[in-house]
Amino acid sequence: MQLIYHSDFLAHDTGGHPERKERLHAFRDLPDAALPDVEDWLLLVHEPAYIDQVRKSVASGHWLDPETPISSGSWKAAIAAVAATRLAMETGGFALARPPGHHAYPGHCSGFCIFNNVAIAAQYLVRQGKRVLIFDFDGHLGDGTSRIFSTTDQVMYWSIHQYPAFPGHGFIDEIGEGKGKGYTLNSPLPPGSGDDIFWSAFDHLLPLARQFKPDVVALSAGFDGYQYDPLLELRYSLDMFYQLGIRLTAEFPNTFATLEGGYNLQALPKCIFNFLAGMDGLEAPYQEEPTVSGRSVWERFEANLYAGLHYLEPYWTIR
Ligand SMILES: [Zn+2]
Repeated sequence: MQLIYHSDFLAHDTGGHPERKERLHAFRDLPDAALPDVEDWLLLVHEPAYIDQVRKSVASGHWLDPETPISSGSWKAAIAAVAATRLAMETGGFALARPPGHHAYPGHCSGFCIFNNVAIAAQYLVRQGKRVLIFDFDGHLGDGTSRIFSTTDQVMYWSIHQYPAFPGHGFIDEIGEGKGKGYTLNSPLPPGSGDDIFWSAFDHLLPLARQFKPDVVALSAGFDGYQYDPLLELRYSLDMFYQLGIRLTAEFPNTFATLEGGYNLQALPKCIFNFLAGMDGLEAPYQEEPTVSGRSVWERFEANLYAGLHYLEPYWTIR
């Protein structure tokens, strides 16, 4: 899986905010990818008035939302993030995009995200008649992505995330609406969940993703579930990201990825390199013991898991 990098990602200057350009420091010597033009693509997901508002906000320096900083280079970076994700979609690559995208809604930004990179690429594929699975393993729910595709049966959105945590929803009973009912899968994990609980969530929901028979799998690849990430209380190890790469590549041959969160500056590149090594069938560059969850965390997780499967039972074969 080819890494797709562009120095424009660094133009989004957020100072000491957790979502800062130093997140990509380890990748700064990579060459700039030849990014395609995507300004028209924003309209696949975003409202014209919002796109205009982003332009104006960048020109004036006024933040769009208290959590999402804006600098004079933010437009350039946000467009590069969409373009890199498009290129990843076209080539089966991994876009090192920033700002991230999965909290962004059609008409407003949220949670450090300006444009919804993965949703734009997925919507393009839907227009080509493809069925798209978006698997979001960032430690937060991608609430923007979830909302954008909540009423369609052409996109399955599956998120494994900490709950409770930002953005405050993503519980088991949110399964989509109208024609999209049953096509939103939420795996809420209690704070303190380690690798063992992640794998239980993964293995219980994977059969549903298989039944969906996606043509393409888009990965919202976030690494803030890592055990030493400052923003969340999940406890994934570096081994988990490596094994996840192995599992996903064996399961879904037609896959691309775009970066979401991951705020431990030292650990983020290790998480990414382990994940890529798994995807590419190489040895793990970093070793770390798998993490084990406490009994009370397991109890809370399992209560939600079985109740969640019950909500999804009318739509899929649950084994
Ligand atoms: Zn996140």
